[in-house]
Amino acid sequence: MAKRMGYIGAFLALAAVCSLWFTGCGRSLQSQSASRTELVMSTVATVTLYGERAQEGVDAAFEKAKELEMILSAQNEESELYQVNQTAYERETEVSETLFTVTRRSLQYCRETDGALDCTLGKINALWAFGTENARLPAQEEITPLLVDRGYEQVQLNEETRTIRFLNPNIQLDFGATAKGFAADEMKRVLTEEYGITCGIINLGGNIITIGAKYDGQPWGIGVTDPDDHTRVVSTEYITNATAVTSGNYERYFIQDGVRYHHILDPKTGYSANNGLISTTVLAENSMLADALSTATYVMGLDKAVAYIEAMENVEAIFITEDRTVVKTAGLADDTFEGTA
Ligand code: AMP
Ligand code: MG
Repeated sequence: MAKRMGYIGAFLALAAVCSLWFTGCGRSLQSQSASRTELVMSTVATVTLYGERAQEGVDAAFEKAKELEMILSAQNEESELYQVNQTAYERETEVSETLFTVTRRSLQYCRETDGALDCTLGKINALWAFGTENARLPAQEEITPLLVDRGYEQVQLNEETRTIRFLNPNIQLDFGATAKGFAADEMKRVLTEEYGITCGIINLGGNIITIGAKYDGQPWGIGVTDPDDHTRVVSTEYITNATAVTSGNYERYFIQDGVRYHHILDPKTGYSANNGLISTTVLAENSMLADALSTATYVMGLDKAVAYIEAMENVEAIFITEDRTVVKTAGLADDTFEGTA
């Protein structure tokens, strides 16, 4: 059945944090720390912070995540997005600044990835219902009509009135591929701007974002795990003040008649993307960008994905193919991936 807790295998960063607990020189930072794990945004999140205001920061970070969940969830009937999805075809619908920003940026990533990312698949996602008890294989007759007129061009945004309008009834927005990244960035922003946090790590179900370097001044070690065996790390990357986001076919899936159906859909077919990749990890400074690109590159397949990431500044990636080859983009050859923010 659907296995929604892919976070367990996605990264082992916290193991690295713990194993280095007694080393390093940042004694003052290390002496005050706080960490909590909670279910939020339909995933398990862990926030670990160091410094005087660590405990307050952990509370504030979770509060932020919960606030965003109530805006951005496509499934929760109480959320703002859920409500907007019910009305935006009938009439222009005014939305909050946050929802407008996430919609505008998500659609921009859809356009830039030439539709490999498609945040208008809400109705098709709902048919599959990955991550719920109702997950099932939809019939082709259910999917085919929903493939017509989908895509980012079918959503109209008006900056002045802050309204959203869907141009046809097949459109429903779903930010499953970008919302956790946006939330990770926002949690980090609150922590650095409002709580003066300079050292910490947030793991939002496989979306990892780090604040500064580790308490001992070293970069954070982020383990990319083996999709077949989550206790095994296939590659460790070192990042400072940056983010690492993984999309994988083992995060939410079910197997029927020997076929694995997973939650990353190929927008062209409405079925699970099957272009030769089983795991994509994107390193960047901005977590929403990395989240969008980990999903989009999964859909693109290896050759396109490598070319796409190589053409970008300060973005790197690690891909695992279905024959279990690990491919890294050129910039990851050595050194630490550093954000400047
Ligand atoms: P991620 O785990 O970030 O790769 O995002 C996967 C989630 O995004 C799914 O659970 C769906 O909610 C949604 N999704 C699936 N396929 C796509 C796609 N091709 N483009 C945009 N969102 C998608
Ligand atoms: Mg994503």
